[in-house]
Amino acid sequence: SADTAAVVVVGAGHAGAEAATAVRQAGHVGRIVLVGDEPRLPYHRPPLSKAYLAGTTTLEALLLKQQTVYDKAEVELRTGVKVERIERENKRMVLSDRTTLAYSRAILATGSRPRPLLAVGLDAGNIPSNLCYLRTTDDVERMRGRFVEGARLLIIGAGYIGLEVAAVARKAGLHVTVLEAQPRVLARVAAPSVSAFFESLHREAGVDIRVGANIESITLNAAGDVEAVITNDGTQIEADLVLAGIGVIPNVELASGAGLVVDNGIVVNQFTQSSDPDILAIGDCSNHPNPIYGRRIRLESVPNALEQARIAAAFICGKPQAYASVPWFWSDQYDVKLQMAGLSQGYDLAITRGSPASKSFTTFYLQNGIVISADCVNRAPEFMLVKKLVASRRPIDPALLADESVTLKSLAEAAAV
Ligand code: FAD
Repeated sequence: SADTAAVVVVGAGHAGAEAATAVRQAGHVGRIVLVGDEPRLPYHRPPLSKAYLAGTTTLEALLLKQQTVYDKAEVELRTGVKVERIERENKRMVLSDRTTLAYSRAILATGSRPRPLLAVGLDAGNIPSNLCYLRTTDDVERMRGRFVEGARLLIIGAGYIGLEVAAVARKAGLHVTVLEAQPRVLARVAAPSVSAFFESLHREAGVDIRVGANIESITLNAAGDVEAVITNDGTQIEADLVLAGIGVIPNVELASGAGLVVDNGIVVNQFTQSSDPDILAIGDCSNHPNPIYGRRIRLESVPNALEQARIAAAFICGKPQAYASVPWFWSDQYDVKLQMAGLSQGYDLAITRGSPASKSFTTFYLQNGIVISADCVNRAPEFMLVKKLVASRRPIDPALLADESVTLKSLAEAAAV
């Protein structure tokens, strides 16, 4: 019956915390259980490489919702407990505390984890205490003692996390070196001009950025800590603290163990249903169709986690809505707020509006005359319009995009017709 039908949400991060309360809001009357293996209430991850690392915000301020919000929504929150396996034939889950949970519908929101650094000289089973990753509040606490003025920080990977940490570290007075294997920073996601902007931003702040740099080996000291990293050109870089920010791996083991289809994430349809119709998957761990791009994608962003949570909740409550969002993301580095809409892969033209020299511009990525994505640098007021342009999928004259005497509002309105 409806009041015994339990929805179990696995993973208490951005997606899971939102899904659990959204299922109640969408009208579910039965039990809702949110199970998370981290020992605390669900919290915001983005500040871990920004304000929280900088020490300008508290753990309390990181919480996504207060305990009272879960109580009011009658969401049973079980933290510090891992779901070990799903027995689909019995529709129940087996937890690390040896209890079981019956479900009628399950939502997997297991997120992703940092890709481990593999290098000659490192023993995967014995991570040096000064080699860090950044995913959880515990990870930040592990860094704190060495994240101090004058320390030599070596960051491996010039993606968003690496660059955000570099910015916070420079402000805190650390010596910062960034190693990037690609020929430029943010190479996977940004146009060369945008990469060049961020490289010079960091160089001006005193960051030593080395692109095209691969790690040859790592040397440890007697205590087993990383002493130095040796790159492919033979350079030796000594470090007190090493942060690896080389991407994430989706947490799919629970799903694949239960026999669900997995392929760079848990494969779901437009309603977030996996290959088992009673098990949904959302957030970083889901591989989902995006109708705007006509292909499957897996996203690592807060807006996507929240959006998919609402899609899953609506589906469970019998009000299905198909997912059709423009992916978006943001990053804060120094006094620069970067906001990105859409996905730039496959672009054939990049057009910039505004001026990188004044730290205020938008770079549009076009494919066959259609804006498929854009990066806004310190242009927050334009961002909503940029998202609309990307969603519209209509051809736009690139010259108009670059012309600041033509308002983006008029272009977005024309495109929306
Ligand atoms: P997660 O937040 O990873 O939550 C998954 C949770 O499930 C975790 O707590 C995990 O421990 C738990 N779990 C996994 N397996 C089990 C299990 N079997 N049983 C119980 N629990 C389990 N995104 C942005 O949009 N903007 C940003 O500026 C930004 N900055 C970021 C900075 C950092 C340092 C990091 C790490 C991420 C950042 N992101 C940012 C990405 C964003 O945080 C993720 O996309 C988002 O957290 C995804 O939410 P999720 O719920 O899918 O996964």
